[in-house]
Amino acid sequence: MISLRNVNRVYPLKGGPFYALRDINLDIQEGDFLSIMGPSGSGKSTLLHILGLHDSAWDGEYYLLGEPVHKLDKKKRFDLQKKHIGFVFQSYHLLDDLTVYENLEIPLSYRDTPKKDRDSIVCDALDRFHIVGKKDLYPNQLSGGQQQLVGVARALVAKPALILADEPTGNLHSDQGREIMQLFKKLNQENGVTIVQVTHSVENASYGSRVVRLADGMIVK
Ligand code: ADP
Ligand code: ADP
Repeated sequence: MISLRNVNRVYPLKGGPFYALRDINLDIQEGDFLSIMGPSGSGKSTLLHILGLHDSAWDGEYYLLGEPVHKLDKKKRFDLQKKHIGFVFQSYHLLDDLTVYENLEIPLSYRDTPKKDRDSIVCDALDRFHIVGKKDLYPNQLSGGQQQLVGVARALVAKPALILADEPTGNLHSDQGREIMQLFKKLNQENGVTIVQVTHSVENASYGSRVVRLADGMIVK
């Protein structure tokens, strides 16, 4: 599903080039559940954002579902992203001037899901994440944990083949966190959804099938 070849991400800083990622080679099969671990600043988020097609200022080769991302223009990357990827952001990235309901509708509108089908899909998601009572509220009226649940729900509504999650349980109570990890595991095992998560938690990583460890922008294990 994913193949990275010699990917580098360099920030041109005053003191000279800084390698946030150096010579990354990584293959992720369909149906994998991979955890990216490593110390703070080791490049985990940078790697996840490259995989999620949020960053294009890297060099090397990236094949996603057979498509050479490094050769695609902005429009094609965007289409690929919206069609196949659900991204859970560490900082939620909800749209502040849209309600919870409207935030959950966004991925469906990108997928051209007919208006008449959207309501039942959004209502199912609200129900599953226990946020039905919050549907008409705006993100700034929610707690951090509730915003995180909305962020996870939004990543899943369009049934992506690939879920990328940056510390998906970081702001949740441990029982809510476990519920999210169990849901990920179920989607992975029963629906074949490929999952890549960045996590500091050994417990979260134990839901996955393998770990890639980064240090100083390199894969060390
Ligand atoms: P992690 O997710 O493992 O904590 P990041 O991927 O966020 O690490 O960051 C990797 C490295 O890249 C860090 O040293 C960070 O300071 C650096 N970095 C991230 N964004 C920028 C930026 N916009 N400009 C310069 N350096 C950056
Ligand atoms: P059910 O639980 O109704 O028997 P499934 O076992 O097929 O249904 O799927 C479990 C749940 O996961 C369903 O609600 C389904 O809509 C949802 N689902 C299936 N594939 C994905 C996906 N790729 N991303 C998010 N949700 C999905």
